[in-house]
Amino acid sequence: MKCDECGGRVTTERNAVRRYDVGGLPHVELHGVEVSKCTACGVETVAIPRVGQLHRVLAQGFVTQHRMLAPVEVRFLRKHMGLSSADFAQRMGVARETVSRWETGAAPMGAVADRLLRLLVVTHEPSESYVVDDLLRDLNDRAAPEKLSSVAVQNRKEKGWAPKERLELAEA
Ligand SMILES: [Zn+2]
Repeated sequence: MKCDECGGRVTTERNAVRRYDVGGLPHVELHGVEVSKCTACGVETVAIPRVGQLHRVLAQGFVTQHRMLAPVEVRFLRKHMGLSSADFAQRMGVARETVSRWETGAAPMGAVADRLLRLLVVTHEPSESYVVDDLLRDLNDRAAPEKLSSVAVQNRKEKGWAPKERLELAEA
């Protein structure tokens, strides 16, 4: 394989670890990705297949964690449901500015809105891997930590993404 930029030789690493910066989630680490790197100019290409399924795994990991949702997770979940800020504000019964404050972290979401968002997500995308009542009962309403981290692992055999032990969301 040759580099698109300079024509140099490209090497491929099959089981790499990279941050997932595409989805606006600075804290998500992907394991098992294929990375092609040009030996001449250093240009790197990361292959991320099945993005839709990856996003479902991430969304499920976010709504099933026990602490409050972090601002970047709120934004990710809204977009994951395909909602504009205005549509999301309408469904949550708040002003658009409120949504913007939740997503930038300028104002905390609050326990009731946090639960409603989770319900919207699980209704939008039902899953058999958890019971909604258990999910809500297990919440502890602890604020999200400053430093977030989560991991998704690509499983080549099963051809898809899976959470690393239910996404190991650090609660440091
Ligand atoms: Zn190159």
